[in-house]
Parts: sequence; structure tokens; C-alpha cells
Amino acid sequence: MARVETQQYLGKVYLVGAGPGDPGLMTLKGKQLLEHADVVVYDALVSPPILAMIGDRAERIDAGKRRGRHSKLQSETTRILIEKARTNAVVVRLKGGDPFVFGRGGEEMEDLVKAGVPVEVVPGMTSGIAAPAYAGIPLTHRGHSSSVTFVTGHEAAGKYRPQVNWGAIAQGSETIVIYMGIHNLANIVPRLIEGGLRPDTPIALVRWGTLPEQEELVGTLTTIVRQVEETRFEAPAIAVIGKVVNLYATLSNCRPSV
Ligand code: SAH
Repeated sequence: MARVETQQYLGKVYLVGAGPGDPGLMTLKGKQLLEHADVVVYDALVSPPILAMIGDRAERIDAGKRRGRHSKLQSETTRILIEKARTNAVVVRLKGGDPFVFGRGGEEMEDLVKAGVPVEVVPGMTSGIAAPAYAGIPLTHRGHSSSVTFVTGHEAAGKYRPQVNWGAIAQGSETIVIYMGIHNLANIVPRLIEGGLRPDTPIALVRWGTLPEQEELVGTLTTIVRQVEETRFEAPAIAVIGKVVNLYATLSNCRPSV
């Protein structure tokens, strides 16, 4: 007689946010899971001090996906997670920042749920909040901004998500935080100006936010593309646009030491 499989998986997959880089911004829950994990599958943007939290006995799998570098396909990563959850109790899928903010955490979780794998999320500090904060830029401020939009600047928009309506964002949000936008700024900036933003609107780019290598580039919508070219400013960086960027002049002096 065929035996009914009641428990196909021994373990559970935890989608854990590693935060933007400073290990002090990792959650206690995430750190505990790293210490007790049997398997950790991590992305390229996860910083070495966070990887150092992984317990000695854990199997580590690099699923790196930096722009232009070889990476495991999304489906292959999911396949590994499903496979590992069959025989391991604690499988951690470690992602930079927050897993559900431009981290494909939602997509991976859907695939795991479809496969019947128990899964839960441990949110992380997203770089769109932390990188501006470490640069001295509050995203809202009673005098300057009462709304903030998080948006992707990645060129591939349209392939697997709706095209970004930059005009509507320019009209509708006083602070705009762009992820993955550095390589596409020359296309984004004119669309924001067409949408109604003044050409002298301040913009700040924060690269490697919360890490010792953190760098900022501050200008206006008119100047920033040239500044990026001149300084060869590279990803990964967050762009912040809006009046709150003016606070950088006074608040960047009290930045956290990293
Ligand atoms: N899930 C992540 C975002 C992944 S998309 C999060 O919540 O932060 C990758 C993009 O995040 C990068 O292109 C960059 O725009 C941003 N990013 C990630 N880490 C960063 C950091 N330490 N400093 C600045 N930007 C960062």
C-alpha cells in the first residue's frame, strides 16, 4: 500500500534581510538564524561582517547576482532552497537590505509556497532608508517633505514589472528614493523634469551606504549626470531626490561612525 507522505520537508526556509551592510543593523532574529542555520544561501551584496555571523557548521552557497557578473538563475536558487529544505532544519535565504523591497523575496516566497515548502520572512533594514540616514538625509521632515516613494531605476522595467510612471512620481511624492538607478540616471532625470520637478531640485547619491566605503555625491537634477560621469560614481547606490537633500549640509556632520 502506498504510504501517504505527510511531511515532505524536514525544515523551513527563512527569507532573512541582512540590512544594507553595517552589521549593527542586522536584526537579532536574523543573527540568531544565521548562528543556527544548516544552510545559508546568500546574495553578492551581503557584506563580509554579516557573513561572519554564519555558524561554522553551516553550508554556505553563494547565489550572487551583481550586475554584469555571473549569477545563479532565480529558478536555480529556488531549486536549491527546495532541495535543501528536504533534509535540513534551518535553511536561510540571506538577502541584502529587506527581502521584500526590490529583493525578489516575494517571488521566491511564492515559488516556495507553490512547492509546499514551509517559509517565513525576517524583514531587514532597507538601503533606501539606511543609506540616506547614514548620509544625514531624513526622508521626511515636517518642513520639507510629507511623502516618500521607493522606486526602481533599473532599465529592465517592463520585462517583468510595469513601466515606472516617472511623471506621476514627480507630481505625487516630495521625496523620491531610487534603487538601482545609477546606470539609468541620464534617462530618469529628464523624465522627472518633464513631470514637473524643477531642474534645480537637489539630489544625493549614496554609494555603499552604512559601510566604511560609504561615499556621497550631491548636486541638482541639472548637474548630477555630469557629476556621475566626472567622478565615475558607480553602483550600488541609492539616489534621493527632493528638498530633504538640503538637510545634508547640516546633518551629514553627525553621521554614524562606520
Ligand atoms: N533588497 C535591497 C535592495 C536590492 S536592489 C534593500 O532592501 O536594500 C539592489 C540595490 O539596492 C542597489 O542597486 C542599490 O541601489 C541598493 N543598495 C543596496 N545596498 C546598498 C548600500 N549599502 N548602499 C547604497 N545602496 C544600496
